Amino acid sequence: MKSAAETRSVIEALSHQHPEADTELHYRNAFELLAATILSAQATDVGVNKVTPALFAKFPDARALAGAPAVEVESLIHSTGFFRQKAKALTGMSRALVERHGGEVPRTLEALVKLPGVGRKTANVVLGHALGVPGFPVDRHVLRVSNRLGIADSDDPDRVEQQLTGALPPGLWTRASDTLILHGRRICKPEPLCSQCAAAEACAFHANASLLPAPAKPRAASRRKAVKARPRSKPAASRRR
Ligand code: SF4
Repeated sequence: MKSAAETRSVIEALSHQHPEADTELHYRNAFELLAATILSAQATDVGVNKVTPALFAKFPDARALAGAPAVEVESLIHSTGFFRQKAKALTGMSRALVERHGGEVPRTLEALVKLPGVGRKTANVVLGHALGVPGFPVDRHVLRVSNRLGIADSDDPDRVEQQLTGALPPGLWTRASDTLILHGRRICKPEPLCSQCAAAEACAFHANASLLPAPAKPRAASRRKAVKARPRSKPAASRRR
């Protein structure tokens, strides 16, 4: 795995490639980002941004959403998928905010992850973007890209969070996570576009891929033989039983 200095330099190169990296969810305060992030599970940010204006117009804060009828919330968020579980998580989270935190979003990871429907990734998104508290959300893109680059070496999101936050100063955490997410969406996709990657020279995955021999092309003679040897298909009638 790369050293802390090497990790910083890889993140710097990618930050130059993606200067606009930021969450793509629309929100006006920590409560809205918390709700939008819960809705973003198994959904696109674009899809979530389509439903949140109507949701927050009707239920603008934790007190309003805590008492919202389930059917009404479900119909407002229906298009994001898993709408029953999500509606339950939203109202449960809002009730917990009212009962435990006076309707406000708490500013610590420990308190956030105790809210219904809120995991470590969601908590870190809210801390880093809406509360100005360093947080390092690790999603599937961060997992894939960081392991390929060799700046992390685990498929456990908590372990990867530990490795990356150990290598980077807290002030860079949220930006670094946004950068890795955007890089994973645009360049380091499951089928990576390494020729367009600003960190290719430092990438362990790319270095290993370049060492692999190119797959051999079948020679013309053996291709002809293969065509000859291919059994003819039987007439349709004889195939019927
Ligand atoms: S070089 Fe390729 S595999 Fe490595 S981070 Fe860049 S896009 Fe991903």
